[in-house]
Amino acid sequence: MNKSKEKNKQIHDIVAIVRLCSLLLSGIGIFQFRLNHLNIEFSDFNYTNAIYFIIAIVFFLTLVYYVWTFATSRKFCGKQLILIKFVENYLFVLLFVAIVILTGAQKSEFKFLFLFLIITTTIEAGMKKGITISCVSSVLVLAIDLVFGPKSGINTYFQNDLVLAGVFILTAWPLGFYVKTESEHIKKLESLANEDGLTEVYNHRFFHDSLREKLLVHESEGASLSLIFLDIDHFKHYNDLYGHQKGDEVLKAIGAILKRSVRKEDIVARYGGEEFAVILPYTVEQDAINIAENIRRNIEETYFDGEENQPKGKLTSSIGVSVFPDKAKSDLELIKSADDALYRAKFFNKNRVEVYYSILDELKEDIEDKHIDLVTSIKTLISVINAKDKYTYGHVERVVAYSRLLADKLGLSEEDKKTLIYGAYMHDIGKMNILEEILNKRMPLTKEEWEILKQHPENGLEIIKPVESLTDISPLILHHHERYDGNGYPGRLKGEEIPYLVRILTVVDSFDAMTSNRPYSKRKTHREAIEELKNCSGTQFDPHIAQVFIDIIMANDNNYKAVY
Ligand code: GH3
Ligand code: MG
Ligand code: MG
Repeated sequence: MNKSKEKNKQIHDIVAIVRLCSLLLSGIGIFQFRLNHLNIEFSDFNYTNAIYFIIAIVFFLTLVYYVWTFATSRKFCGKQLILIKFVENYLFVLLFVAIVILTGAQKSEFKFLFLFLIITTTIEAGMKKGITISCVSSVLVLAIDLVFGPKSGINTYFQNDLVLAGVFILTAWPLGFYVKTESEHIKKLESLANEDGLTEVYNHRFFHDSLREKLLVHESEGASLSLIFLDIDHFKHYNDLYGHQKGDEVLKAIGAILKRSVRKEDIVARYGGEEFAVILPYTVEQDAINIAENIRRNIEETYFDGEENQPKGKLTSSIGVSVFPDKAKSDLELIKSADDALYRAKFFNKNRVEVYYSILDELKEDIEDKHIDLVTSIKTLISVINAKDKYTYGHVERVVAYSRLLADKLGLSEEDKKTLIYGAYMHDIGKMNILEEILNKRMPLTKEEWEILKQHPENGLEIIKPVESLTDISPLILHHHERYDGNGYPGRLKGEEIPYLVRILTVVDSFDAMTSNRPYSKRKTHREAIEELKNCSGTQFDPHIAQVFIDIIMANDNNYKAVY
């Protein structure tokens, strides 16, 4: 897209330069007219004539300047530009007619000037306009011959200029044809370069380019743009069962479903392997949710070969939605937040649509203005941890979601609930300083590495210390690895010495650690993790809290009839 704009600009510039040259040549015509008119021979050339000459040149340079600025002005577009070009073309026609008449009418040697106009118009505006201008020029040149030529006998000028008219038209026609085929060819190549070969939706690069471009427009207009991220559920399972070729057929079919589930102006792209993205211009959150829900339903209702062997007997998709500028201020933030929402959709048992919301944005409303910047930095830190620690991706979001459920069930006050949720959000912030190699290590950690990892609660405390409004959550950050039996770290607090909210966080944090992918241990099913919670009740966990949480998970799983 940018490339074609660039190309148009270059053509525009070269056309302007050619037209400038034709104006200078016209200047010579006018100068000749002055010499003829005043009956001055070049040998008589004196100071008075030099002044005329200079005036003529200055006059033309000024004209040239105006045409240049006019032609290169970027202020106009669409219909306005077409009108301006029309006026400009016919002003040139008038000027050239005048020059031809002044320099000897039918005898003039300046009839070739029209060629400049014909060539530039054809290059810039295509065959149709080029041929029109060449016809108009031909008719005018021939008319001049008829009007000014000999009234009786053979008009040789007319005969000669019939050839010139032929030249005019034969210049416009093939040149126009060339311009047309070239631009069609470029369009075809462009669409090939922008398309994903398998699914025939747009590719990753085009997605990024158009998202960036559209956001600029939406930003200047203060309009909303929504982004949908879609990931096929259990697609690895499908591939493993039927092979990649069958998997590719599904990808193709989903590309087609997406295209027919959205509006004409929406942009469907394949973001990665089995992930798709849809840009929804001028769309607010609720409309985006409706479109996303429509897509999800269409995929669920479509029959895919062999889908009965998928974990839930159906091939489904999970979708995340985010909105510019409400939820994200830049293209990167928009992508990140839609991706976060997608992970939440996966977390809530897949085959669903989730909209992005940020707990930190909620937190911002409660926090004093002078600390807002710090909260923003904390948010950045959390995304750094997410990026570094790929095995815990989505961990924080899941822990927050569990904490909400558990807080409601335990009947916490609004105040405590908030503290718990903010604490849940930031509990791992101290991992910031830990090397990626340690966080993602596949082998069991060495003793030294464990020591480093165990420092994260204290490091986390250091990070949030400067923010007074976060004082309440500091126990959650410092003590979330304490154990009920007193064998935890860093304080070796025991039983009720550990604050109540911290004991809650420890249960949900551990449950998520057990049930999500870890670097060196296989993840547990919900059932296995529940067993583990029961086994460690009273040693690692507060027995009452553990039991309430087990009840919640079991009720939740029955609701969704989860396989896992
Ligand atoms: P989840 O529901 O959590 O998304 O589970 P999943 O199995 O879909 O997990 P994940 O997203 O990690 O798996 C992606 C799989 O998509 C891995 C690979 O088998 C498959 N895949 C990625 N790209 C292609 C592709 O171009 N063709 C085919 N056939 N499969 C692909
Ligand atoms: Mg995936
Ligand atoms: Mg998937």
